Amino acid sequence: MARIELSDLAHSYKPDAKDARDFALKPMNLTWRQGGAYALLGPSGCGKTTLLNIISGLLTPSHGQVLFDGRDVTGLPTEKRNIAQVFQFPVVYDTMSVYENLAFPLRNRGMAGKAVDARVREIAGLLEMSGELGRKARGLTADAKQKISLGRGLVRPDVAAILFDEPLTVIDPQLKWELRSKLKALHRALDVTMIYVTHDQTEALTFADTVVVMHDGKVVQAGRPDELFERPAHTFVGYFIGSPGMNVLPARVEGASAHVDGAAIALSRRYDIPAGKRIEIGIRPEFASLTPAGEGLPVTVERIDDLGRTRLARVRLGGHAFAAGVPDALSGIGATAGVILRPGHVHVYADGELLEPDDSEWRRKPPPSGA
Ligand code: ADP
Ligand code: MG
Repeated sequence: MARIELSDLAHSYKPDAKDARDFALKPMNLTWRQGGAYALLGPSGCGKTTLLNIISGLLTPSHGQVLFDGRDVTGLPTEKRNIAQVFQFPVVYDTMSVYENLAFPLRNRGMAGKAVDARVREIAGLLEMSGELGRKARGLTADAKQKISLGRGLVRPDVAAILFDEPLTVIDPQLKWELRSKLKALHRALDVTMIYVTHDQTEALTFADTVVVMHDGKVVQAGRPDELFERPAHTFVGYFIGSPGMNVLPARVEGASAHVDGAAIALSRRYDIPAGKRIEIGIRPEFASLTPAGEGLPVTVERIDDLGRTRLARVRLGGHAFAAGVPDALSGIGATAGVILRPGHVHVYADGELLEPDDSEWRRKPPPSGA
């Protein structure tokens, strides 16, 4: 059991790193709570495996510290960190039986006799492999081997954390869904910190109570799934999470309104705009709705996608592609229409980062107590 802290952590694979581009991980400070279920989410190449290997001790960071429960473990190898790690591809001993494979991590840590047997059978049961304990790993399918790898990661009851690096890549889709639900249930039962790396938002959002989103070597947001949805801290989060992702439009913002290609968009608060930054607004399709021409912001309709339970309009707002929901009652949609945006859900970004509204007026005139 451990709380894991990354303190001014950064990593370059190059011994002579000079600028930010030489760093696979840009400087970060992050705490992983004891017992949390985390997903580390981001596209291929953003640094997820690098970060995971630094936490497990397979890789020593070029800068900064890793702390477990306040103790500096930066220089300690994996064995001394009491961590279990499950990789993308199966790591099993082909010549051993399924049983021996599962028992190995326990015996290796000095557990013996009945305790080993009980634990092996418990984990095999969870993974629905009880009937295969006597079989040699060699003859098994890739799916089954990966289940053994998961079992080997989960079997030790005493680990500080279990790290999973895209563990379900080789598993077929139906089984993937089942295993993910099992991992979630196991997390509840075990009270162990779990960090689950994936590039798949659905996997991340269903497994984790906290999703850590990475982009280009940086952690751009760590939050609950609903926070990532409601308030993306970075345009990348808005775009990467959601399907389709958040609409991001270049804008000029003045006070409490944004201007996009001549269309004025009301914001819920006033903003102080920093000079020299690229300003954009972001709004998720779920908070934009199509309306008859003559109402809202004028758009041209490109197509309507029927998604089963909902419809999604693909339109152009000025020169920009834009996605908006279509209310059930709206029919007879022509080539032109309007969109209505919910002001509280229009966010302002400066160089990709969420800008806080200007609260100076609020501070000058505090609300009456109790408000
Ligand atoms: P992810 O797991 O998100 O796909 P990685 O952590 O594997 O990303 O890679 C992050 C960056 O570091 C990539 O640009 C990758 O090419 C680079 N990288 C990864 N491993 C090494 C290595 N052993 N040596 C040099 N560069 C590496
Ligand atoms: Mg990786």
